[in-house]
Amino acid sequence: MKVIIHGGFFSESSQSNETKVAKQQALERIARDSYDYLQTHSAVETAVYAVSLLEDDELFNAGIGSQIQSDGKIRMSASLMDGSTQKMSGVINIEEVKNPIQVALVLQKVDDRILGGEGATNFARQHGFEQFSTEIPQRRKEYEAKLAATGVGTVGCVVLDADGKLAAATSTGGKGFEIPGRISDSATVAGNYANEFCGVSLTGVGEDIVSGAVAAKIVTRVTDGFSLQEAFAKTFAELKPYDGFAGAIAIDKNGNMFHQDSHPSMVFGSFDGEVFETFK
Ligand code: ASP
Repeated sequence: MKVIIHGGFFSESSQSNETKVAKQQALERIARDSYDYLQTHSAVETAVYAVSLLEDDELFNAGIGSQIQSDGKIRMSASLMDGSTQKMSGVINIEEVKNPIQVALVLQKVDDRILGGEGATNFARQHGFEQFSTEIPQRRKEYEAKLAATGVGTVGCVVLDADGKLAAATSTGGKGFEIPGRISDSATVAGNYANEFCGVSLTGVGEDIVSGAVAAKIVTRVTDGFSLQEAFAKTFAELKPYDGFAGAIAIDKNGNMFHQDSHPSMVFGSFDGEVFETFK
């Protein structure tokens, strides 16, 4: 059983050492807690559990603490992929929901599995997700100061469960200052993808990630026989010509875990029951 999570990027220039330590501690707590949860739950359930904890922590740009778009509103995106059934579900630009990843979980059982905008928000309300403002004063301050770049955020999780099943879940508050209607990579197969061989979750600049079809490419390459390391190396090399900004975490069916980023440094943590590994 394995759990790997990420909490977006860490930018030395705009974040203090105190924030860095706080993020490392939060990742360790959430990775260990999710590993305990995995003892009695499936990969899908655990991925949703882990991402919900990350969404609830205002240190990260997903759920509570999401970035504000150019018109002053918060719109969030999240997706979930069950590697064993190959079902992807998600919400794009949903508003005023505490845990977008939990709406994605409900959508696993619906025919129309990816909903956007008002349709996603209405669906959430119909399924008992109460109106909840995910705005925090710090983000409003940044918005007012027009400081969009406080570090690229997003959260994600990949899990391998006791039955050898994989799942990937990703949730984001976006880049910040987006044109309303902009689509994040997080609820696309570029930002979140899994099958029976490999699961991947991304963070970074959504446009770069979609241009590189990153998660889908890594999973396809592992499926076709590449090691995780080889699949990452080739896929990240393909981001180079346009200086694509991305970071990814992954687990393969044998329990190998891997992570890579194109720019320093992705905030990640992994736990295998014995060792917790995190970013430096
Ligand atoms: N990938 C997200 C997006 O472009 C942002 C992020 O990872 O922070 O919406």
